[in-house]
Amino acid sequence: MVDICHYKVLQNEVYGRYLTANKDLECGELIFTDLPVTVGPKPDTSPLCLGCYCPVENSVCSRCSWPICSTECEQSPQHVPECDVFSEAKVRFQPIEDWTARSPQLDCITPLRLLLAREKDLERWKREVEVMETHTEARKNRPTWEADQVNIVNYLIDHCKLRNRFSKELVEQVCGILEVNAVEIPSHGGFSIRAVYPRLAIACHSCIPNITHTILHKNYEVQIRAAVPIKTAEILHLSYTHILSPTLIRREHLLESKFFNCECPRCADPTELGTHLSTLKCNKCDDGLILSTNPLDNEAEWKCTEKNCQFKTSGPAMRKMLGVVLAELEQLDALDPGPTAIELREATIKKYKSVFHPRHSILLSIKHALAQLYGRVENYTIDELPDVMLERKVEFCRLILKTLEVISPGDSRMRGMMLYELHAPLMFLARNEFGAGLITQEKLKERLQEPLQCLADAARILSREDPQSPEGITGNIAQQSMEQLNDSLNSL
Ligand SMILES: [Zn+2]
Ligand SMILES: [Zn+2]
Ligand SMILES: [Zn+2]
Ligand SMILES: [Zn+2]
Repeated sequence: MVDICHYKVLQNEVYGRYLTANKDLECGELIFTDLPVTVGPKPDTSPLCLGCYCPVENSVCSRCSWPICSTECEQSPQHVPECDVFSEAKVRFQPIEDWTARSPQLDCITPLRLLLAREKDLERWKREVEVMETHTEARKNRPTWEADQVNIVNYLIDHCKLRNRFSKELVEQVCGILEVNAVEIPSHGGFSIRAVYPRLAIACHSCIPNITHTILHKNYEVQIRAAVPIKTAEILHLSYTHILSPTLIRREHLLESKFFNCECPRCADPTELGTHLSTLKCNKCDDGLILSTNPLDNEAEWKCTEKNCQFKTSGPAMRKMLGVVLAELEQLDALDPGPTAIELREATIKKYKSVFHPRHSILLSIKHALAQLYGRVENYTIDELPDVMLERKVEFCRLILKTLEVISPGDSRMRGMMLYELHAPLMFLARNEFGAGLITQEKLKERLQEPLQCLADAARILSREDPQSPEGITGNIAQQSMEQLNDSLNSL
């Protein structure tokens, strides 16, 4: 049997280059894998080891003086080429007072690595990298352009004495390739870095993706899979934003980072396809909902859906309000997982209950965090939780899963993780009821079928993740728990 390529690269006016399915694809089917042309620190990052990307403090390379955690990392293949450049030009990492603060000094590293990758494999560069989008004209009007000229272009060409190896235009092109195409990935240690995958970058965006990507720790290989069954010739869509964000925030992020205005069916629908991720409650009447009159225009007015209600507000006012609440959410996310993290989130839900639709992105994100905290932190471990809290965990998991069915259908990491979270309270609730003599053994067996299915689906979805990643580890546990539950069901 001839194994035909699973995808095709096409081109049009709207998307530029894009990918389509070249055959009917099954849910979970591997479409392609890709290796990064380069991996390195994100812009404006705090100092991290240029070998393994762990945060470092006062630890530098003995040859070039740039941040490095160990002798082993000093000699790692990713650091040696830049180490040569820095050592020869005698450019040192400037001493800093606070090693946890963001520093623009490392901004030049990933561009330099991309330039060195070009020297090393000019064939791949010409075949895969040169054609990548840079949006140079649009980028010239942004404040980052000037900063990049100082911190990257002039720095590499003048300070690092690379004038004879790379032209100014080439360095500018490299900055553009990185800004437009790099994806954020977790390093082996779980710290956030970035990488450029030439084939992955061709996939166009939709806020309702039909493919997913997984980064493997070894070589940072990326695997692209079908999230749902896909028919031949259908466009392959990846999501480049946070899937639970509301339309105003997603579209702003896509315009900022990817230079386009998303007009996907989810963005175009004021109710976000009935998920209500952007919907507010009206305070001027009883049942009214506040929706955008045109979600594809960020300036458009927002109005109450009730005929007799006059309430309206402007797009910019809505954006400002979201910004304030999102900053509050950021503070919540910075809390260590513990009882306070649960209690403050519950208080925030209460505070905004009359403002947002119960499935609004803001409340849903808090509920997503709570679905993972209940049963896992001090004073709230799963065997300590009273039935009412077990039910709350179930409610939150189901809410997320229901929303994902619409905006990210099929097998996604988030769905796998939520199914795993859902199994435990379902199991405990059934066992508690049996223990209290409220249900028969037959009924108990019946009730345990759902958590069993949750575990089976979670194990299937998460087994595609790197075994060392948090999701991969959860997938492994799901598999073991499924076998245990099966055994105990058989012995009932
Ligand atoms: Zn290291
Ligand atoms: Zn070095
Ligand atoms: Zn969209
Ligand atoms: Zn109203």
